[in-house]
Amino acid sequence: MDLKTPIKEAGSIYKKYAGRLEKLGINNLEDFLYHVPFRYEDFSIISKIGEAQAGETVTIQGTVIEIKNEYTKRWKRLQKAKVADETGTLDIIWFNQPYLINVIRKGDKISLSGKVDWYLHKLLMQTPEFEIITNGQNTIHTGRLIPVYPETRGVSSKWLRRQIYKTIKEDKQNLIEYFPDSIIENNDLMGLRDSIEQVHFPKTISDARKAKHRLTFDELFFLNLSSIQRRSLWGKNLKSNPFSIAKFKKNIEEFWAKLPFTLTSAQQKAVREIFADLAGKKPMNRLLEGDVGSGKTVVSAIAMYLAHLNGFQSVLMAPTEILAHQHFNTISNLLSPFEVKVGLATGSKKTKGNHILIGTHAVLSKNIQFDKLGLVVIDEQQRFGVEQRGIIKQKGKNPHLLTMTATPIPRTVALTIYGDLDLSYLDEMPKGRKIIKTWLVPKEKRNSAYRWIEDQIRKTDAQVFVICPFIEESENMQTVKAATNEFQNLKKIFDGNKLGLLHGKLKSKEKNDVLSRFKEGETDILVATPVVEVGIDIPNASIILIEAADRFGLAQLHQLRGRVGRGDKQSYCLLFTESKGELTRQRLKALETIRSGAELAELDLKLRGPGDLYGTMQHGLQTLKIASFSDFELIEKTKKEAEAIFPKLKDYPRLQEKLKSIAGGNISPD
Ligand code: ADP
Ligand code: MG
Repeated sequence: MDLKTPIKEAGSIYKKYAGRLEKLGINNLEDFLYHVPFRYEDFSIISKIGEAQAGETVTIQGTVIEIKNEYTKRWKRLQKAKVADETGTLDIIWFNQPYLINVIRKGDKISLSGKVDWYLHKLLMQTPEFEIITNGQNTIHTGRLIPVYPETRGVSSKWLRRQIYKTIKEDKQNLIEYFPDSIIENNDLMGLRDSIEQVHFPKTISDARKAKHRLTFDELFFLNLSSIQRRSLWGKNLKSNPFSIAKFKKNIEEFWAKLPFTLTSAQQKAVREIFADLAGKKPMNRLLEGDVGSGKTVVSAIAMYLAHLNGFQSVLMAPTEILAHQHFNTISNLLSPFEVKVGLATGSKKTKGNHILIGTHAVLSKNIQFDKLGLVVIDEQQRFGVEQRGIIKQKGKNPHLLTMTATPIPRTVALTIYGDLDLSYLDEMPKGRKIIKTWLVPKEKRNSAYRWIEDQIRKTDAQVFVICPFIEESENMQTVKAATNEFQNLKKIFDGNKLGLLHGKLKSKEKNDVLSRFKEGETDILVATPVVEVGIDIPNASIILIEAADRFGLAQLHQLRGRVGRGDKQSYCLLFTESKGELTRQRLKALETIRSGAELAELDLKLRGPGDLYGTMQHGLQTLKIASFSDFELIEKTKKEAEAIFPKLKDYPRLQEKLKSIAGGNISPD
């Protein structure tokens, strides 16, 4: 057994906890060590019983003289104990933990930490942390700084503390420093073994901080180092299919001429960058990043057209059926005048003979094969896992890869997470887009907002999205029910209008019908779950009303808002919330004035921490255990260190080994 031993195989005490621990990201014994506390309880003041003051949080140590269960009138159970040392006796009380009388026995030496206070003219310690003292053993739950961990049902901090303590004790000798002295010294880092010990069981708060800093440094350092490694591996042994551009200059120009708009200069720059890659000797590995509505689809269409002209097939994978259908329509419109056969795959049906295939993850199916796949495009790439991205690439021989995302990540962060990719940024919106007027609507104005919307529909033919609260990451029955109820409710309020309902549990044909009726202007109001968040393009929709806006991250609200403001109509975004908190109000108010997705994302990072931005509904993005993406300075610093050491990596076998264990099987470029 070593630190890499999976929890399930680490012995019977762990077995029944394996599932719950997985929720905390603990899959092997080593993960225990990196499950760092989010705070510490200070139980370090040890006091004699006779000296304990009311109102003080202290640790007392003594002998149990008595412990018993007692029943109150309402059949609640209390556990009462008396503990004595040479200076006095103290009463202790717990509630509803009858098993305690089997854990704590008369005569035990015990250590207790908690608040001492007056109760009916007597000093009393209520629901303290406790542990039985065994000779020669350190206390871990009392009498010191106590780590408090992220918990989950059935896995308490106390339980974790015990396992972590045990793991450290048993495996300490396996924690061998992998950094060269130079990195340790330049960055004033605590040693590896100390930092693991001190982050969990610190002597002082300042030690805890130093320890956490070291572990944060490590996490960001290895994130950077593995990006650098992936980049260097990509294309090292891969020969691509270089596309010719010169030969097809005329065709490309014809395509430009037929577009209903001129490309923005950001789009043109991205196309140039992509073309340069496609003509190159190693396969393209590029991320096209651009705020919602910046026009990524057409850029990918041009790349796919070039692939076709060169005699190669392309595939475009999108995360939802709705989006796949929409792309199918857009790309067909753009390319069928040039005799490009575009196919759609959303189920397991075989499709053959297409030049371009567009679909959901269904395109990953074994049934779908290509004769000559030259380009893979992945839209909203953060929605797909590494594995899925891997499978799709395997369908061709070293195909070029273009991934796209609207996840507004600050550039520094993008360069770290996607350090192995080349980046193209669409930092400019198509001309003529009007600012989407955004209002946080006070509760008491709900009815007037409804009347205003009715008015807009009548006067300007406005079409409206109503977005129901975000309940869970994936569509479940609860989400569907909430949307259905709201749909019924709004039908009464807007009895003169036509309403549609869209959620993820509808059959795909129904979904398309609902959407195309909305697109054709037959429905005025589309009530939808947050499924519309990704990519839907309905230029005539000009009002979006978002319920329980506080449940969304700012970046996500910005994505939702991007569903309107795509045509020439003045567009509006109305935010509703039931929350009364001042912070929530401030957060949402920011949407009224800030219009850049990246700026909003940064603000959310500051206000709510990274979990919310990068967690919900943004799967696929690397999650950090200890570090935070808002720590730009440390991201930069670790990047520099990683870049400096990478060329000399073979001189540091331990570092290499650690990198390998972190990167796992994912370091291979294909
Ligand atoms: P996203 O980047 O969010 O995927 P889309 O590709 O869906 O954006 O494009 C949004 C809308 O903008 C579409 O209706 C598209 O036709 C339109 N569009 C794209 N590029 C331009 C442009 N240069 N000028 C005007 N409209 C454009
Ligand atoms: Mg898109």
